[in-house]
Amino acid sequence: MAFDFDELAREDARGRLGEWAGAPLHFTTDYYTPPELDAAYERWCFLNNSFDAIRRSHMWHRFSWGAEEEVGFETHRIAMFSADLGPERGSEGPGGVPHLAVCEPCQWYAIGSSENEAVEAWRDHAVPGWRELPVIPAQIRVRNEKGLTGLARTWIEVNYAPQMRVPGAPIITEREPTGTRHVPGRSPWGGYDLSSTAVSGAGSSEETVDIDCEPIEAGSPARTDTAIGL
Ligand SMILES: [Zn+2]
Repeated sequence: MAFDFDELAREDARGRLGEWAGAPLHFTTDYYTPPELDAAYERWCFLNNSFDAIRRSHMWHRFSWGAEEEVGFETHRIAMFSADLGPERGSEGPGGVPHLAVCEPCQWYAIGSSENEAVEAWRDHAVPGWRELPVIPAQIRVRNEKGLTGLARTWIEVNYAPQMRVPGAPIITEREPTGTRHVPGRSPWGGYDLSSTAVSGAGSSEETVDIDCEPIEAGSPARTDTAIGL
């Protein structure tokens, strides 16, 4: 006779759901630390099976791991999550794929309707004045197979102030005609390579989706139970 011990453990956990004291096991717009969000998503997957969990749970899950999470900028750190609020077949949902940036040391967070929007909100929080950084023109080839080119390094040395050539500091590059994503870990100091669309006002409208929660929500932690899409 064979027992499915995993299933027994799941049954046991389902019976004690009321004892769960972590982040909500559904979408939330409240502040939780990155480890709390990780634990909640893992818990949901354990209870409900991880197949198609992103779509079925609507919960925050890791979106990208960048060096900023370790290096940060000064005392700031960024952890990126996204959630799929698309409605399940036959049921209503707000739709959209919001992105969440969390600065754990500050207990700060922002929710954007796109990855770029969340990243830019974090940068406003962590690196004031970043929008005034010199934009590396498209004529300068920034990267090759080996990483940053010598030409780009020299250009940055000349044009970036010393206080912006520190661990975690970003660069801004002009990219034509496509490639508007802000790419983590790509500056010479482990910071973001930001697309100039962030400062030119062109935006990333083609990536932006409307969601039925505040497009940008930033500030101090507040915990009230909010469920969207369930
Ligand atoms: Zn911070």
